[in-house]
Amino acid sequence: MSESVNPFSSLDLSPEILDALKKMGFSSMTPVQQQTIPLMMEGHDIIAIAPTGTGKTLAFGIPMLEYISLKDSRVQEIVLAPTRELAVQIGEELTRLAAFIPELRICVLYGGQPIARQLDKLKKHPQVVIATPGRLLDHFQRGTLRLNAVHTLVLDEADEMLDMGFIKDVTRIIDAIPPTRQFVMFSATTNQDVMTISWKYQHDPVDITIEATEENKPQITQYVIPADRDNKYSRLLYLLDSDEYKRVMIFTNTKDMAHRLNERLHKEGYASEALHGNIPQNKRSQVMNDFKKGRFPILVCTDVAARGIDVFDVEAVINYDLPNENEYYLHRIGRTGRAKRHGVAFTLMTFQDSVRMDEILKYMQSTPIKLHFDEHEILRDEEGTPFFDSI
Ligand code: ADP
Ligand code: MG
Repeated sequence: MSESVNPFSSLDLSPEILDALKKMGFSSMTPVQQQTIPLMMEGHDIIAIAPTGTGKTLAFGIPMLEYISLKDSRVQEIVLAPTRELAVQIGEELTRLAAFIPELRICVLYGGQPIARQLDKLKKHPQVVIATPGRLLDHFQRGTLRLNAVHTLVLDEADEMLDMGFIKDVTRIIDAIPPTRQFVMFSATTNQDVMTISWKYQHDPVDITIEATEENKPQITQYVIPADRDNKYSRLLYLLDSDEYKRVMIFTNTKDMAHRLNERLHKEGYASEALHGNIPQNKRSQVMNDFKKGRFPILVCTDVAARGIDVFDVEAVINYDLPNENEYYLHRIGRTGRAKRHGVAFTLMTFQDSVRMDEILKYMQSTPIKLHFDEHEILRDEEGTPFFDSI
């Protein structure tokens, strides 16, 4: 085999981090890692926009861990994430990265988990805290978490973090952190709020945009399948029954729909689970974990699972409902085709959806492949070839 290009070993990293990367099986940096790690290690504020699945977590995680002073038991670094699932996942990835740094303590805080349990975690004096903003602020206001020694703040999925629901909490947190901090934002998509917050709070930020190229873009083949209200469900079953996909995420727009669809699939004997905002937190964690471990093949979910979540082997994403926001289409389908594996995304499109679909595709600048069901309800491509051999 040839030498790896852009090896991590070309950076000035500590042996513990290099060993951990080796153990994780990573030798070459991804483009976003290559561009941001040196700058972040030099202390710059950064806005980094890079496609989904391109390794943004380690892009900020490596400089973070390099920058910790282990003797200091105060909270030094904070990552804010929009969902509990994503906070947990970042915690797991950074824990793997810290495999050879036993003195490093990482703590994940999110809403829905009992405060008392989190107090126990905080009493262990973590140097790194990964949190959803509301819960972090809660601890700050109770005085159970201090922010006065924080020197690095990361917003993951920055554009969503600055969406209406979060922006107040986020700015309160920023205001509570010493102004000398390093402040970096990572995301797959950006918006005006990111620019505004950057302008207000970042010092001479470096802007890094990694375009989706053939090399780094997730390998996702997109398909659109016409459907209507009456046959949408049976068309979904057709896709599931193909047995082509061992791990599938089905997205709906509402909690209620995710719930009902999952119940219906269950009744018919499919091994599925639901993930949405009405599921209690401990159950949500368990479902996510079991899905990642491959204990069941079908996850029916709302957009709580659309952002950032990295399940290695999602082979197909199905849009049962068309998302209301363009970016969510991108984030949903970005759950597959990660880390250079090939994935497929199907969108069941009703007639009423067609205008929205055009908007989405304009936003995506991509052309999906149109499939259709013939009069015998066999799925075919534009040339008329049956889509699945097996059916
Ligand atoms: P993003 O946040 O950009 O969507 P993630 O950080 O979740 O992407 O990474 C996607 C996947 O790629 C993860 O499974 C991660 O472990 C893996 N990964 C990260 N860095 C590398 C690398 N340098 N080489 C190979 N795989 C990597
Ligand atoms: Mg991410």
